[in-house]
Amino acid sequence: MANKNQHNKKNNNNKNYKGNNSKKTSTIVSECSYSEGITVKELAEKTNINATDIVKFLFMMGKMITLNSTLDDDTVELIAMQYNITITKEETVDSNSLEDEVVDNPEDLQPRAPIVTIMGHVDHGKTTLLDFIRKTNVTASEFGGITQHIGAYQTDVNGQKVTFLDTPGHEAFTAMRARGAKMTDIVVIIVAADDGVMPQTKEAIDHARAAEVPIIIAINKIDKHNANIDKVYNDLADYGIIPEEWGGQTMFAKISAKSGLGVQNLLEMILVLAEVLELKANPNKLATGTVVEAKLDKGRGPVATLLLQNGCLHTGDSLVAGCSYCRVRKIIDDKGREVKVAYPSQPVEIIGLNSVPEAGDHFKVFESEKRAREVANNRAEEKILQERRNSNGMSFDDIAYQIQEGNLKEINLIIKSDVSGSAEAVKSSMEKLSNDEVKISVIRATAGAISESDIMLASASNAIIYGFNVRPDAKIKKLAEENKISIRLHNIIYKALEEVEAMMKGMLAPVYQEVVLGQATVRQIFKVSKIGTIAGCMVDDGVIKNGCGIRLIRDGVVVYTGKLGSLQRFKDNVKEVKAGYECGLTIEKFNDIKEGDIIEGYEDQQVKDETNAS
Ligand code: GDP
Repeated sequence: MANKNQHNKKNNNNKNYKGNNSKKTSTIVSECSYSEGITVKELAEKTNINATDIVKFLFMMGKMITLNSTLDDDTVELIAMQYNITITKEETVDSNSLEDEVVDNPEDLQPRAPIVTIMGHVDHGKTTLLDFIRKTNVTASEFGGITQHIGAYQTDVNGQKVTFLDTPGHEAFTAMRARGAKMTDIVVIIVAADDGVMPQTKEAIDHARAAEVPIIIAINKIDKHNANIDKVYNDLADYGIIPEEWGGQTMFAKISAKSGLGVQNLLEMILVLAEVLELKANPNKLATGTVVEAKLDKGRGPVATLLLQNGCLHTGDSLVAGCSYCRVRKIIDDKGREVKVAYPSQPVEIIGLNSVPEAGDHFKVFESEKRAREVANNRAEEKILQERRNSNGMSFDDIAYQIQEGNLKEINLIIKSDVSGSAEAVKSSMEKLSNDEVKISVIRATAGAISESDIMLASASNAIIYGFNVRPDAKIKKLAEENKISIRLHNIIYKALEEVEAMMKGMLAPVYQEVVLGQATVRQIFKVSKIGTIAGCMVDDGVIKNGCGIRLIRDGVVVYTGKLGSLQRFKDNVKEVKAGYECGLTIEKFNDIKEGDIIEGYEDQQVKDETNAS
């Protein structure tokens, strides 16, 4: 929903800026509207304010922008206020939307299969249950009973179909929810009777509740001698999940995913719930739905698993998924058979896309290939714009600026460290920095390497990630860049505290900053009695320089920080070795190097002084 911001307050200061408008003869408008993503130049044209005056005005407010910078709502309002303009934001109609926006006539609707996700704590039996259902309910006529893995499958229960999303746990579910995809009708929460309600059980319940998806509880491993079903009932009741037999709303099934005991009963419960939910779709229209998985296949090019939520998909249809499009060349079902048509709730693989979409992206079929191409291209452009806008709003420097302006009252942090004790220590020290103006909230503090889930959480909550003695790998770095997440790496707690304190004051002073030069992987170890350990390495990225600072990284954790002792190529000492070349190196006063270790070279470099924000 677009919000309407209206202003016509008087402001005496505005004369300074209006007065400079000597080149333009047209007078500044008193009223105008704008749409999302307006640039300085566009706003200048709409209002007749001289564009350089806008730039100057914002500069005085401490904001550096150019003519092509996009302006957020607050800044547009600020400018409007300055020039006494009543400004309204236009509601934007997204003609490139891939959501199914047409409400079907009830008479066009037909029942469709329920789409089910199984969630629960690790080792409670998700995979075993999914495998059991997949194997036992494949009818003999189906392609020799073999199913292939495409991220989702359909099974037959008493002649009715049920679709299971075969995604690994709640990470995928979170990723899909983060993109606004709601593709599950029912969540089965699996709880092992010998282990009870665990943290991820609660998380799964929270996710299902947040998505307003009904829950069925499957108490698993009832065959085990130490199964304690009563305890699971009580724990769940404490968490607000009350079984029907106790007068509550939730169906409970007792199963053994391993032997299959009770699984049929669980499947029948799913059908009962599905009937209550009256799940329907219109098969006689162009297909819409969600991407479950997508990958680049060596032989087949981009391959996407789609889950149809409405309409039917035919080969030859012109489809847009995320920012990718195609005329569907081939449709393959979950049993590996080529089909010409796919129906609502059916998961299928399609081949023909021009690029790989992302899991959770919506897809939609369009009337013509031309229109599909146009929409995909528009969406790709819009995505770039959106990313730029996000980067305007979320960078590390901008947080400092927002605090200084009094716009930001809370900073969210995620803390990762090599040992959990130190994560906790950093958490409490950081939180103590909170003052009357700005609150520091540590939303996660755990031991271990910086993970995809940290980036996702940071992205969802606008947080900065602080790593202590841990380094992100290349994949995580890329993901962080894509999501515009700041990762700050430190080995000394007080330095990080100083940095956060400076940020809270709206001032950042990294006069010297450590710059990573490159990374090398240790391929071979040679122990030489007089020298110590020589590591035969391959430089994977950047450059390693003689005498530079190094960090030795093992499984994502920094195990040693020090200095390079020597750097050689073919027995000659060299100044530096670039990516793609092998080298031999030693670390000063350190010999415990192992094959597979990563050596990261760094040096301190002067960076631009950002302290003049006061
Ligand atoms: P996931 O992490 O939730 O996918 O759990 P898995 O399906 O991998 O199961 C974890 C372990 O529990 C495996 O060793 C399974 O064989 C075992 N397991 C799963 N279901 C049952 C069950 O009903 N009874 C028993 N005894 N073991 C089970």
